[in-house]
Amino acid sequence: MPLFAGFDLGGTGLKYGLLDRRGSLVFKGEAPSPPAINELIALFGQTWESLKKRDRREIRAAGFGFPGIFDLRQQKILQSPNYPTLDGFPLRPALAGLIEAPFWIDNDANLAAYGEFRCGAGKGVRNLVLLTLGTGIGSGIIIDGEIVHGTCGFAAEMGHLIVNAEGERCACGSRGCLETEASAGPIIRNYRRLSGSKEKLTAEDVAARAKKGDRAARRSYDRAAFYLGIGLGCAVNLLNPQKILLGGGIMNSSGLLLPGAIQEARRRCYRASLACCSIEKAGLGNDAGFIGAACWARDRLAAPA
Ligand SMILES: [Zn+2]
Repeated sequence: MPLFAGFDLGGTGLKYGLLDRRGSLVFKGEAPSPPAINELIALFGQTWESLKKRDRREIRAAGFGFPGIFDLRQQKILQSPNYPTLDGFPLRPALAGLIEAPFWIDNDANLAAYGEFRCGAGKGVRNLVLLTLGTGIGSGIIIDGEIVHGTCGFAAEMGHLIVNAEGERCACGSRGCLETEASAGPIIRNYRRLSGSKEKLTAEDVAARAKKGDRAARRSYDRAAFYLGIGLGCAVNLLNPQKILLGGGIMNSSGLLLPGAIQEARRRCYRASLACCSIEKAGLGNDAGFIGAACWARDRLAAPA
């Protein structure tokens, strides 16, 4: 049975692995991701060679997930806030010099959604949304079993859905995006503002305090849940999905977020549409990206040209 390789580049690490045709995991690994582009490309080459030696079965195709705005037509990342060395770099020719099998490149969050759709909590679901809540908010949308790309590949940026017209400025140029209201940064900032704390904290620290009864911490999570709920309501009205899956580090404290977010979503969208939709935790954790990349390559290879 042939194998399929998947790669998922993050701000600090490259996750990769091999799947068989049925989507079963054969091997997975991880390496630190260097900031310089030539070292990064060399890392892809080394990892590819090591994967080929790992199993005597042939690797039939590969998929690559990159963070940032990926232009499908030009096959390059136009802008990557978390990996600026990728900006405008011609990825396809660089990888073609190293990878002799057919390969596909896409945005990392799109491929994570595809991973959940094929192998995770979205298995058997034709219409789904994945939101990854962490330092930022990544998202991918699957409709009728296909990744929603839009015209040039820039669709499904749900992290930049405006949920608070008067909210904080966002790196995307807008203000009050889901990402500036309901990711780790605003949870920490709002806790500091409400409590007067000057400590260096993570969103997990704030969650731990909320669970112990710290009111400022609880209110900071309630605020994030409120804006997350507005975003979920928009997704439900726009797409009528069967599932919205929520992943990322912040979902380790899902009990602090999900009930409030679902309650707010209920106020913001058609009940009939929400009644069709299950809002729940994603299934594959940090592996969703490379698993989705491998599944995407497998399915593109099998698809009629
Ligand atoms: Zn934004």
